[in-house]
Amino acid sequence: MIDEILNKAKQGKELTDNEYLELLNINDDEELEKLFKVACEIRDNQSKVIKLTSTVHLTNKCQIQPRCEYCGFAEETSSTGYYNAFYKSNEEILTAVKSIQKAHIPRVSCSGGYGYKGKQAVNACKIVKENSNLEILVNVGGDLTEKSVQDLSNLGVDTICCNLETINEDVFYQRKPGDSLDQRILTCKRVSDAGIGLSSGLLLGLGESKKDRIKHLRYLSNFKTLEEIPIMGFNPYPDTPMEDYPAFPLKEQLKMVAITRIMYPEITITMPTPTVGPENVEFSLKAGANNLATVIADNYPHEVKGVGSPNYGNYNKVVDVIEKLDLIPQTI
Ligand code: SF4
Repeated sequence: MIDEILNKAKQGKELTDNEYLELLNINDDEELEKLFKVACEIRDNQSKVIKLTSTVHLTNKCQIQPRCEYCGFAEETSSTGYYNAFYKSNEEILTAVKSIQKAHIPRVSCSGGYGYKGKQAVNACKIVKENSNLEILVNVGGDLTEKSVQDLSNLGVDTICCNLETINEDVFYQRKPGDSLDQRILTCKRVSDAGIGLSSGLLLGLGESKKDRIKHLRYLSNFKTLEEIPIMGFNPYPDTPMEDYPAFPLKEQLKMVAITRIMYPEITITMPTPTVGPENVEFSLKAGANNLATVIADNYPHEVKGVGSPNYGNYNKVVDVIEKLDLIPQTI
């Protein structure tokens, strides 16, 4: 049965929801290897180049209240996160951007908390575009106004990210009681309507079902400029309401990467190194991912605490892994 489904996938035929579910239900290691192999073949037929994305965290001050239950990024949420409030100055953003360019990492993600209507993202985009030739993704959640989307477009932003995390409304509002799914969907629509590349990801393991995950993946096809899907797995941050909730199993996260690759052969599939664990980067590439995020070089001037866990991927180690797998790291 699994062989038949994978043959269909290899031939580029559309799979049904039930067939995707069968793939997510694989438990046998041999069958799992077959799934990953097909996903990698599909990726490699498109390109063997692996994108690398570094990061600048603009601010951890976030106006979402109550906090998302899993959040260890915003001020005073977790003793292992940033904890103390910060708002990076233009000078600090610039030194980080320059260090990323110097390390030959081609792309930067500028992210921050809610409450600025996108002004912090516009400011960061201006600094990046005026001082480097880095690709830029901005991610400030659902806080972008139509004007800030337009300003970002005028500045030449490459990608705007707004993660829906889960489209199961009960789960969304249980875990994110201060956030709005409608607002996030509206932001994705604004980005798409402005003709800007959209990144929109899933945070797995918040309580959603496998069917929800498949429905969510399909839902993303509504956005015509969708170009990137981050596949994130929940990790408990100490001191948060979800600190005792189980981490999302790596194997399940990898299966989602593989079925996303089958559903969207050409899409950028992002594994943020903090949520997969830097030591597991190899497995994510073997499952069909083609972008590694929160990659930090040794020359990076600021402290970094990953979103999703305090870890991040070291640039040299990540490049070694990519080359070991006979893939090509994208550098500038
Ligand atoms: S997860 Fe994001 S939106 Fe939610 S409280 Fe933390 S920083 Fe704010």
